[in-house]
Amino acid sequence: MITIQNNDGGRRVLLLDSPFALDESPDFPEFLFDVVLIANGSVEETKTILNHINPVTSSKCCYKPLFVSATLKGKMGGYDEIIDGYADDMNNIDVLTTIENIINYNTLIGLSATEDPVMSSNQFFIRLTRYLISRKKTVLEPQLDVTASTGYVIPIFDLFYRLGQYELSDYFVFFQSMTEKGMFRATKFVNKVYLCPTCLHSHLLYIQTCPKCGMSSVRTEEVIHHFRCANVTPEHTYNFGGQLRCPKCHKILRHIGMDYDRPALIHTCNTCGNTFIEPKTQALCTCCKQKHEVEELAPQDFNVYEVTAEGKQSIISPNIGFTIYTEFYDNYIDYNRLVSRVRLLAEQKFAGNIEGDVLVGKIWILNSKGETMPIRPEEIELVCRYFPNNKVSAANNITYVGSVIRDIRGQNTEEEIINFQLMMSETLRAAAALLRPGETICYSYMKLQGNQSTIDDFIKEMDYISPTPDDSATFEHANATPGADEA
Ligand SMILES: [Zn+2]
Ligand SMILES: [Zn+2]
Ligand SMILES: [Zn+2]
Repeated sequence: MITIQNNDGGRRVLLLDSPFALDESPDFPEFLFDVVLIANGSVEETKTILNHINPVTSSKCCYKPLFVSATLKGKMGGYDEIIDGYADDMNNIDVLTTIENIINYNTLIGLSATEDPVMSSNQFFIRLTRYLISRKKTVLEPQLDVTASTGYVIPIFDLFYRLGQYELSDYFVFFQSMTEKGMFRATKFVNKVYLCPTCLHSHLLYIQTCPKCGMSSVRTEEVIHHFRCANVTPEHTYNFGGQLRCPKCHKILRHIGMDYDRPALIHTCNTCGNTFIEPKTQALCTCCKQKHEVEELAPQDFNVYEVTAEGKQSIISPNIGFTIYTEFYDNYIDYNRLVSRVRLLAEQKFAGNIEGDVLVGKIWILNSKGETMPIRPEEIELVCRYFPNNKVSAANNITYVGSVIRDIRGQNTEEEIINFQLMMSETLRAAAALLRPGETICYSYMKLQGNQSTIDDFIKEMDYISPTPDDSATFEHANATPGADEA
């Protein structure tokens, strides 16, 4: 059952008691309700509902007050982080106050609900940070959790990590980037820990291994130094029928410190027989099952973070998504800079200073009417990721990839151009996952030809999409190959 009822405060409460594809349903648009109440007495079912209907990732429920049944209080574990209250009666005075406080504060700071679906880790982080601002929970404190990926986790982040919302590497980059930009501030150092360099999980098993063969079946014993004859050998060589007797001079050993001592430990490999003083410590990751030298582990500082006042403003602003993406990637540049760069390269080429080709790839999205769609931050992000060694830019509803194919040894550049085209096609296939029904994503590439006098035409042509793209992919294409975005 799903209905909308008014409460005494005049707020419209969306009431539901079972899983429902709310974001996809045309029957309950976002503007029809202000509050959500999940009226289900089962912990597990309520969790299942919350995986989709929550004030962070659900586009329709974004930042709206959310309540669950009073009987579930204290039983929801990590989900408690996204629940504003436990109540069955939406007219209870505390409930009315909570609802009004949240809605009025969101209005005050200008946080509105209508948003696009969450498509990437970074988009999700912005959404989650907005939610935290909306609930005035702007201090982010890592907690130790034996079941959590990185040992120290911020509980609300971890809840969504477990739901597959983001990658750990993106998580660390996000905190670093937000701190560098002054949007977050580390207020207290918690600990420096070492994570698996492959998967960034913290659950490692430390194993002592033979430095020669790497096996871990190693026995350890003490070394005995006999003062009288200066013999230094492992303890077992002294063992004669329960007595300690020197294997070299055959005297019985009596008092430690007087006639002998035990200066060190020695390890012997049961596999190859090698004896050694320092075993090599390796870390076996219980998550990805890879073995690493301890020196290779990834150090990671955990801090308490606070969202700064400037951070709150920028994060709430609707343009934040774009800023964040572009600043995440070193290879993203302003369109004006890309144009100057292309002009410079073109002049160099025609002056004979560069042997090779100057290419510009263009990617754009068309809707079902054949109109170009505004650039999506996630699209730029993806292109930046697929072309880490190229300059990427965006303007005119087009995402650009600049490329100079140098012909250093006088070789043919044809093969490199084909590689560029293949990479553009691969990017389109991945980006198709970002499309909405009826949309098509296209690319074409321009190769600089002619002479000095054609540079302006080349640059002018960059503003326009090509009527005959070199390749395209559609929304249906993305749906036919789930996982195409995982490349
Ligand atoms: Zn060995
Ligand atoms: Zn001796
Ligand atoms: Zn690992």
